[in-house]
Amino acid sequence: MVFDSDIQVCLLFPCFNEEENFELLLLKIIPFISNYKYSILFVDDGSTDHTREKLYDLASKNSRINYISFSRNFGHQNALKAGYRHSKGADVVITMDADLQHPPELIPELLEKWKQGHKVVNTIRNPDPNTSFFKRTSSRLFYKLYGFITGTKLVPGSSDFRLLDKSVVKVINSLPESSPFIRGMISWVGFKQISVEYTAAQRTNGKSGYTLVKMVNLAISGITSFGISPIRVSFLAGSLCSFLAFLYGIYAVAVHSLTDKTVIGWTSVIASVLFLSGFQLIMIGVIGEYIGKIHIQSRKRPDYIIEESTI
Ligand code: UDP
Ligand code: MG
Repeated sequence: MVFDSDIQVCLLFPCFNEEENFELLLLKIIPFISNYKYSILFVDDGSTDHTREKLYDLASKNSRINYISFSRNFGHQNALKAGYRHSKGADVVITMDADLQHPPELIPELLEKWKQGHKVVNTIRNPDPNTSFFKRTSSRLFYKLYGFITGTKLVPGSSDFRLLDKSVVKVINSLPESSPFIRGMISWVGFKQISVEYTAAQRTNGKSGYTLVKMVNLAISGITSFGISPIRVSFLAGSLCSFLAFLYGIYAVAVHSLTDKTVIGWTSVIASVLFLSGFQLIMIGVIGEYIGKIHIQSRKRPDYIIEESTI
C-alpha cells in the first residue's frame, strides 16, 4: 500500500518574465499537492524582468522550491528539457505554464490516472473562444500538417501541461537530440498514455512569451524533428511536376511541328518557369532545414546554459 505522502511529485514550471504570477500560482497550486511529498522546480528561461530575484526569494524561504536560471532565453522547450533533467528522485513530474492558464484543479485527475497505471497523462485544450482567430487557426493547421507529414499522431490542442512517470522522464532524458520538440517526443516514446481535457484560463499577468517567430520556429522544428517525410513529399511532388512539364513539352513540340500556330507563348513559359523555380526553392528550403539540423547536432553545443541554480 502506497500512501500519497510517500509519492514524490515534482511540479515543473518554465518561466519567461513571470514575476507577477508566482504568489498567486503557489497559492492556487499547493492545496492540490500538499498531501504529497512535493517539490516545485522553476526554470527561469533568461527572463528580463525580476523573475530570477523572485525565485531566489521563494527558494530561500521554502526548501521545497528550487530554481534553475538560464544565462539567456533558450526557449520553452529547452526549459522543459532542463527541468526534466533536474527532476531526479521524483516519482512523477507535472509540467505546467507559470501563468495559470493550465488549471491547477486538474492536478488530482492527472495523479488519479497515473495511479491507475498510466505512464503519461496528456492534456488536451478545449477550443477556446478567447484565443485569437489567428492562433486558433494556425494551431489547428499545424496539428493537421504535423500528423500528415510526420506520421506521428498529435491530438489538436495538445499542450505541454502533462504528467510523466519517472520511467518516461528517464527515457526523455536519455534522448540526445538537440532543439527538442517535447510534445512529439512524448508521443513517440510510447508507454501507456491517456489524455484529459481542460479549458484554458486567461493568462493571469504579463504577456505571452510566445511571439509569432517562436511559434513558427516551434512548428518547423516539430515537423522536421520527426522523420524525413517532408523530403519525400517534395521529391514526389518534384517528380510529378517534372513529369507534367515533360508531357507539356511533348505537346508543345507536337503542336509546333504539326501545325503552323505560334505555340510557345510567353505566358506558358513564364508560368512554368515560375512554378518550377518556386518549387525548387521550396525543396532547397526543406533540404536546408535538415542540413541545418545536422549542423546544429554536429556542433554539439548544449541546448541551454545554466547560470544559477539551487539544485
Ligand atoms: N516560456 C518560456 N520561454 C519562452 C516563452 C515562454 O519558458 O521563451 C514559458 C512561459 O513563462 C509560460 C510557458 O512557457 O510558463 C508558456 O508560454 P506563454 O504563456 O507565453 O505562451 P502561450 O500560453 O501564450 O502560448
Ligand atoms: Mg500562457
